[in-house]
Amino acid sequence: MMNSPRTLTQSALIPEATMTDSENKPGINSTQQSLLKKLPGIDHILEITKQDEILADIPKKLLTDTVRQVVDRLRNAILEGHQKLHENNFTDTHILGKIQEIVRSAMSLNLVRTINATGIVVHTNLGRSLLAKDAIDHIHAISGRYSNLEYNLATGKRGLRYTAVEDILCELTGAESAMVVNNNAAAVLLCLDTFARHREVIVSRGELVEIGGSFRIPDVMEKSGAILKEVGTTNRTHLNDYKRAISERTGLLLKVHTSNYGIVGFTSAVPLNELVELGKQVHVPVMEDLGSGTLIDFSRYSPLKEPTVQDSVNTDADIVTFSGDKLLGGPQAGIILGNRNIIEKIRQNPLTRALRIDKLTLAALESTLRLYRDEEKAIHAIPTLRMLTCSLETIEKKASQLKALLDQPDDVRLTVTLIDSASRAGGGSLPLFELPSKCVGLSISKMTASVIEKTLRGNNPPIIGRIEDDIFLMDMRTVQSDELAEIANAVHTCLKGS
Ligand SMILES: *Cc1c(COP(=O)(O)O)cnc(C)c1O
Repeated sequence: MMNSPRTLTQSALIPEATMTDSENKPGINSTQQSLLKKLPGIDHILEITKQDEILADIPKKLLTDTVRQVVDRLRNAILEGHQKLHENNFTDTHILGKIQEIVRSAMSLNLVRTINATGIVVHTNLGRSLLAKDAIDHIHAISGRYSNLEYNLATGKRGLRYTAVEDILCELTGAESAMVVNNNAAAVLLCLDTFARHREVIVSRGELVEIGGSFRIPDVMEKSGAILKEVGTTNRTHLNDYKRAISERTGLLLKVHTSNYGIVGFTSAVPLNELVELGKQVHVPVMEDLGSGTLIDFSRYSPLKEPTVQDSVNTDADIVTFSGDKLLGGPQAGIILGNRNIIEKIRQNPLTRALRIDKLTLAALESTLRLYRDEEKAIHAIPTLRMLTCSLETIEKKASQLKALLDQPDDVRLTVTLIDSASRAGGGSLPLFELPSKCVGLSISKMTASVIEKTLRGNNPPIIGRIEDDIFLMDMRTVQSDELAEIANAVHTCLKGS
């Protein structure tokens, strides 16, 4: 059974046991013997699956593996003397039912769409950013056809895949040159490897971040072969700390945007412009890892404040890196900005090939970036921006709509409440900012909040919310308008089942 799909073992109703030939051994009692006689043969079961509407279309190997597994488990259950075994367990109908159940789970996709009712906009566990329609359309157009991915249509010769986004990145940010890789972690790794292999990288102790999924700046540095030179203290680092650390071994001055936490109180950090000034004096490149990286100034639309990519480029940092799927609202990607020399050196690093961006990502990224030419348009068309800048009034309207759909005057078990809450940007972005939001709270009599949570999580599509004060809460900031009816259906089904 080595090749059987993982789900086969997961969904078994009878505990798995290894197959033995102990049925031939003495020591089994007469009940076991008569049950073993009832056990149908594999060929018989396979024969009857041919008449079954669902099973007739299942790939042969999967079906045979499943049949064998179900029969094996029943046999083992008999041999182990399971008390609850009954003759009914051996009927064709029962066995077919079990096979269908296992096959259904094996045939359904593991990666599924979910409804994000957490209020966390860039939710790393739920797929971070939703793509704009233009980006989805472009993926659609590029994926099923050949493209000029690495072909220069003007010269008829080989081209570079980065060409698709370099111009627009330079246009939007003011950078001289740009390239993109698989994600921002890859961008950081590649830059460190290119400019600081076996050399020292000076970083403030206040900026040695760990972001989710165990991406830690010191660990990435170690992998790149760069040597970490920490300066300052957790809460305060001064220009002099950097100055004192500089030597002929220095390869890079690195500033990391502390994107998922804030240091407050008695603090001091060296602003990028001072670091850039110092870098120029000592001829050491300065790199800023922005993490999220936004092209728009959020403070114009919301309580959010985040330095823009343009700020960093204007400050003349030699290298700027940021993510494609955090505040930018595009696909997973790592964007690297710099002057021509810098970007050329990075492109020539053999690691680039291992970290290169895929064509579907590139298609989505190009379309997303183009939307930024018109900021108003971008805010409406890019879901991440739309959700982050959405007014409380709009969210409240959605909450009332859902409440109206949920309320069932003739069913007193369900209580629907509207609750003030705060949602977050997420994805390690803007940790200190809370966006006022509205939740729809559910309580159902004789059903705990954790049962409601589990039931809705098991819905198709799964609905992911949170529990507070024994009420199941769904934050309306991240729920899409066309998902309200699906939520109402799921809750009504949940009521019927209770
Ligand atoms: C998120 C983040 C990264 C990693 O970016 P990915 O695109 O997730 O690989 C690196 N540095 C900082 C500061 C970040 O916030």
